[in-house]
This record gives sequence, C-alpha cells and structure tokens, in this order.
Amino acid sequence: MGLSEYNRKRNFKVTSEPSGEAPVPPGREGVRHFVIQKHAASRLHYDFRLELGGVLKSWSVPKGPSLDTRVKRLAVHVEDHPLAYAEFEGIIPKGEYGGGTVLLWDRGTWEPLGDPHQAYAAGNLKFHLKGEKLQGGFALVKLRGRGAPRDKDQERAWLLIKERDAHVVPEENGDVTEARPESVTTGRTLEEIAADRSAVWHSNRDQVDAGGAPGARVASPPTRIRPPRFASRTTPPRGDGWLHEMAIDGERLVARNGGGTVQLYAGSGTPLGAAAARKRSAIADAIRMLAAQTLIVDGVLAAMTPDGLSDDAALPGALAGTGKAALAYLVFDLPYLDGYDLTRVPLPARKKLLAELVRASSEPGPLRFLDHVAGDGAAFQREARRLGIAAMVSRRAASLYGARAGWVRTPCGVSAKR
Ligand code: MN
Repeated sequence: MGLSEYNRKRNFKVTSEPSGEAPVPPGREGVRHFVIQKHAASRLHYDFRLELGGVLKSWSVPKGPSLDTRVKRLAVHVEDHPLAYAEFEGIIPKGEYGGGTVLLWDRGTWEPLGDPHQAYAAGNLKFHLKGEKLQGGFALVKLRGRGAPRDKDQERAWLLIKERDAHVVPEENGDVTEARPESVTTGRTLEEIAADRSAVWHSNRDQVDAGGAPGARVASPPTRIRPPRFASRTTPPRGDGWLHEMAIDGERLVARNGGGTVQLYAGSGTPLGAAAARKRSAIADAIRMLAAQTLIVDGVLAAMTPDGLSDDAALPGALAGTGKAALAYLVFDLPYLDGYDLTRVPLPARKKLLAELVRASSEPGPLRFLDHVAGDGAAFQREARRLGIAAMVSRRAASLYGARAGWVRTPCGVSAKR
C-alpha cells in the first residue's frame, strides 16, 4: 500500500521530510529497524512498526505486546508511516490525525524468518526482535474469517503472538507494558511527555495551503530576517486600499520555526540570546503547536490589561508571570509558510493564512491574531480614540513584506492607560 494512505490523510503539499516511497538509504540494507510507540490518542494503544520496503509497516495494538505465548494480542494493520517517524516522541496537537501523546516505548532491530515481503503479503510474518524491552521470536498473523470480510476492521485484523523461546514471560509473572511503562529513550512517563512542548509532530498539513495564495513562490526559508519598519506619521492615511490595526505597545518579535526548532528575533532582525529566548519559551511552544513545519511570523509581544489594551510598563511582569497583565504575542504577518515565500502575496491574503493557522491551533497559548479594519484611516482613528487606543498602524493592502513595505504608525491623540 506504500505511503499513499499516510500521505492522503496528511495531504502533503510541500514538505522537507520524507513523504513516502523513499528508497532504502545506502548502508541500511540488511538492517531493519522496529519501533513501538505508546500512543495516548482517543484510546491508548501501542503502534508496532517494522521497517520494510523503505517505510514503517504499522499495526495498532490496543493492549500492547505480551511475552506470554498463550496471549494473542489484536493488532490492527494501519497505514504505513515514514521512516522519520520512528524517532518521534512528543506531542501531536489535538485535532490533527493521531492527536495525542507519543512515547517511544521500545526500539531495536528485527530479523525476518524467510522473505519478509512474501510473508507480509501472505499475512504470516515471523521474526526475531532485538529491542530493549522485547527480544526473541514473535509472529504477526493475519486473521482470516470465513467468506468475505464484514468490514474494514475485520479485514485489517492481525494477531501479535510471542513465539516459544528463552524470552517468554508467563502472564502470571506480570505484563511487560505494566512492568516497563517508561520511554526507552528518555525514561519519561506519558504525563511528562504530555507536559513538554519541545517536540511536536504535525500530521495534518491540509489546514492551511499557502500554495494557493496569489504571489506565493516555492522557496527555501530565508537565511536573514528583515522585519519591515513602521514610519511615524501625524495623520492617518486617507482613502481605500489600507488595512488598519491597533498599534501594540510592546516588543517587536519575529518567530521562526525550522522543523521544530524555534528561533526568536528582535525587530532589528537580530536573534534573541539564550536567556531572552528562555524567558519567552511560551512563545516558542505556541509557535511549535501551529500546524506548520516551517514558518516565520511577525508580531508584537505585549502585556495586555483586562480592558484589552497593551501596557508596555507591565511587560516585564507579564514575562515573569507576575502582575495582572497577561502576556500576549499578537501576530500580524506571515512572510513564510511550509515551503512558500509569501513576501509577495498581498497583505490581506497573508493575514488570512495567518488567521487560519492561529485559529486552528488547539493550544495557542499567548498567541493571538491581530485583526484589522480595511478602509479610511480617519474613520479608524476616530473609533480607536473612542476605545482609548493610543496609536494605530496602517499598511497598504498591496504592500509586500520587505524593506519598502511603506507601513506607518499614527498616534490617535489619547495617552495610553497606565
Ligand atoms: Mn497510533
């Protein structure tokens, strides 16, 4: 079945990671890896995966493996996974395919008895495992009902059975999944992994398709970050063709996710140092939870008062988690997303993609989409003044993301509340 079903479920558009049909890398022939991932999704199960034909053949085992030859465990054959997934331990965001927590429960190599492709096709795989928790002979045997299968579940039902050898442990002596619940790589429990936002796997890419945006170009992520500046004006721009936003009093911040590694940049385009980044780790966590592998977002980090205004003076307290103001990262632009340079995409289309991304996140944390009003600047200024907003920013709808963006900031004639 190849990876077609895996890819269909995830709808790969552009991706930097294996999306299927990958040839076996040189040096890997003859060494076959296996992995068992304990997966706390809607129901806890163990994903038993055998490397075969350049993919991970996968079975979902609700009760996990047993070391007792008399215990036959149901193993539902599920779609192939890419080899890269074998290393994964962490979080799949809620709402995405397989959403939940993944614990790397066991890993090692497997050796088939006989031709594994033939045995797999025949629904009768016998093999030896050299794992850290599982060793010795096992069999995966396809269940055969009489006549045509009643449904898809029955068609996919196999059994995972321990073969008789020195590694047998009778059930009375305990279950290996209960005796060894921890991660084989980190020793962590499911709860500990669930509380950590540093490793996130995205199953769905179909939530936001940047390739459909006008002006989107296939490109690698830029090596340098150059956030456009806002020029100061005394009066707001008149006429149509502008988008107006509330000016946020805070710290300009650009966040870049490069395949799970998040880097934060100041408004100058300079990367934040380690200590500053650590203080802003909630931002990096929220960026990782967005359904994208690679992206750059631009925004302002601010402390928001209960009346919805930004308060610059309260930012240190909000960063430290003290005080009444809440930390918020208000994002207003998206120059890059999953293989697409969006700097030449018209601003409303960039913001639309950004809004979809933020709103689809099951764990946005402090991340907020900064909305806008299109139209005349003077009308927006009057309304902003009425709401006690100190300043506004205006960006031409046609403006690109770059040095000549022509973005402006105008005071609204009220002093910021303190
Ligand atoms: Mn699973």
